[in-house]
Amino acid sequence: MIGNSSPHGHDHFHGHGHAPAALKAAMTLCSERGAQMTPLRRLALETLWDAAQPLGAYDLMPKLEAALGRKLTPSTIYRALEFLVGQGFVSRIESQNAFVPCAHPEKPHACVFFVCDLCRGSVEVDNPALEGIVEHEAEQLGFRVAHSVIELRGTCADCRSHEGAPS
Ligand SMILES: [Zn+2]
Ligand SMILES: [Zn+2]
Repeated sequence: MIGNSSPHGHDHFHGHGHAPAALKAAMTLCSERGAQMTPLRRLALETLWDAAQPLGAYDLMPKLEAALGRKLTPSTIYRALEFLVGQGFVSRIESQNAFVPCAHPEKPHACVFFVCDLCRGSVEVDNPALEGIVEHEAEQLGFRVAHSVIELRGTCADCRSHEGAPS
């Protein structure tokens, strides 16, 4: 079939399906902001989307080196990640010193991540009510929030179902 429109298009809830749209959105935001999306930065973002779990700089390094076919230093990777975090494309999960792509970089919001301790999988939820609470508290405190990442650790549904299964 010729043509690039898919009748089965929009699968918003499938993790990996986000990647191309998210990358495109990031490219557009970069050109609007006059920020420079270098091949390395783009590749790092793409790799984080593909991973579907938080990755540290040292998890990223071999993947990026393999894709680029050259050696990289940790500081190069950290600079790329710093850029992605600064633009809101990626959030840092402090407790793991790891990075996850953000699903809504176009608007300021509280990133709420559920992170599984067993498989390390992560899911970001977009919850305006939760965001409203955070905003309200910040207002009460006169606190200007620069970046908010809410991290909820535990066991995902998948891992829980294996936990309960007879061995
Ligand atoms: Zn987010
Ligand atoms: Zn899990």
